[in-house]
Amino acid sequence: MDIDAIDSALSPRTGGPAMDVEEFRRLGYKSIDMIASYLGTVHEWPVFRPMTPSERGLLTGQQLTSTGIAPETLIDTFADNMLPFAMGNGNRRFFGWVNSPPAPIGILAELLAAGQDPACDVGDLAALHLETSVVRWLAELVGFPTDTMGILVSGGSVATLTCLTVARQWVAEADGWDVRVDGLSGARAPLTVYMSTEAHSSVRKSIELLGLGSSAIRLVPVDEQRKLDPAALRDMVKVDRSNGARPFLVVGSAGTVNTGAVDPFDAIADVCDEHGLWLHVDGAYGAVGRVHPEFGRVYQGLERANSLSLDPHKWLSVPIECGCALVRDRELMRRTFSLVPPYLRTEEGLGVGGPPSYAEYGIQQTRGFRALKLWMTLQYMGRDGVRDLIVHSVELARYLASVVERADDLELMAGVELSIVCFRYVPGGPRPSDEALDALNREIEHLLQSDGRTFLTSTVLDGRFVLRACVLHYGSTERDVDALINVVREIGERTWSSRH
Ligand SMILES: *Cc1c(COP(=O)(O)O)cnc(C)c1O
Repeated sequence: MDIDAIDSALSPRTGGPAMDVEEFRRLGYKSIDMIASYLGTVHEWPVFRPMTPSERGLLTGQQLTSTGIAPETLIDTFADNMLPFAMGNGNRRFFGWVNSPPAPIGILAELLAAGQDPACDVGDLAALHLETSVVRWLAELVGFPTDTMGILVSGGSVATLTCLTVARQWVAEADGWDVRVDGLSGARAPLTVYMSTEAHSSVRKSIELLGLGSSAIRLVPVDEQRKLDPAALRDMVKVDRSNGARPFLVVGSAGTVNTGAVDPFDAIADVCDEHGLWLHVDGAYGAVGRVHPEFGRVYQGLERANSLSLDPHKWLSVPIECGCALVRDRELMRRTFSLVPPYLRTEEGLGVGGPPSYAEYGIQQTRGFRALKLWMTLQYMGRDGVRDLIVHSVELARYLASVVERADDLELMAGVELSIVCFRYVPGGPRPSDEALDALNREIEHLLQSDGRTFLTSTVLDGRFVLRACVLHYGSTERDVDALINVVREIGERTWSSRH
């Protein structure tokens, strides 16, 4: 069969993926029109909308057809049955977890990247050369050396897992055993890890996945600003050493998920230097806050870390998924992951040969073209745009905190370091017990989330339930913050008075 005969044999809709180019164009315009309308009106939609059992069932009960479905129908089904049930992060009245809206240019980048669809592992590919630049930019933004090795991954959790795997390789090499051959059975002494009580759960998950077990974790107390206490860290390391353990890793936070606290990296790095420990920083949420013109001192010492995890799909508004693992010791990172079978071997400058395979620096082999959306989003904003985005979020969070502080029926529950504000509603009249306030605020959270006008989440600080708002939307304004406060109060008053 010649090539045209093969082509015509495949093009009828017999079940293959082929699509006529003009049909693709038409469907593409339709899809872009839909998303453009969505972006233009999303602020008028409910921020979050709970699904009815039948709306849910329509999705969970989907059956794979034998003959395929017309593409229009697929796109319409997305528009009708999925698009209205978003998480809400596109809406500027969304203040939940640590989730930004997607930058519009990043949405387009996703389309373009999927159109090209490189595997981003090995080869002389544009996608890989671009990745070296965007990773370097991230290193620059957070003050890391620009020759740091970095790799784009799915998110902060995998970035941390990647970095901590390198840390494990480092301690094994330092102590003369081979973790890649012997696993942890080669370890000379029980390995111990230090992080604050405020560290993100993904750090613990990494420690568990690395086979160290969560019993290897020492939780270091925090000060009243919820920053890791370096003196306590030093003492804990000393005690563990004298008991025959091998302390090897400290994980600091550049912006905790609870309150946005930034650990004192200089003091922590001093302890690491004294005792020969690897310093990793979880910067998934807050490391890019370092570009804030006032925050130089807060982040001082971050650049002394051995590795850093970042999450451009958080504050930088790159569409999900986009994380980044930065490791200063490039060769160590390669020794941690490199496993090059003959069928993947290429030689630089020959044939498809390009830069060393990214699979030699991380967990994945085939990787999506994440660099494009990161490149477009950052280059669309420029350095000043990134700074303005950070400054805007921080200012709005400070505004929210000031509104809370001025109100008789609201209490600020933690200091505001970056863009997270923790507070609670406290009704007028005789002061309710803490337990009653916990229950009331929990109910406010649930009612507010399904109300649709705005959105926040919660956490527990010192055993107390608190409402938690994280400002990350580039389009949020003081009016949106006022709306959040008004809805909290309205629901709080209504809920409290219906009971008393
Ligand atoms: C979100 C977050 C993580 C986890 O990142 P994912 O992208 O969700 O995997 C880790 N640490 C902090 C501080 C975070 O905010």
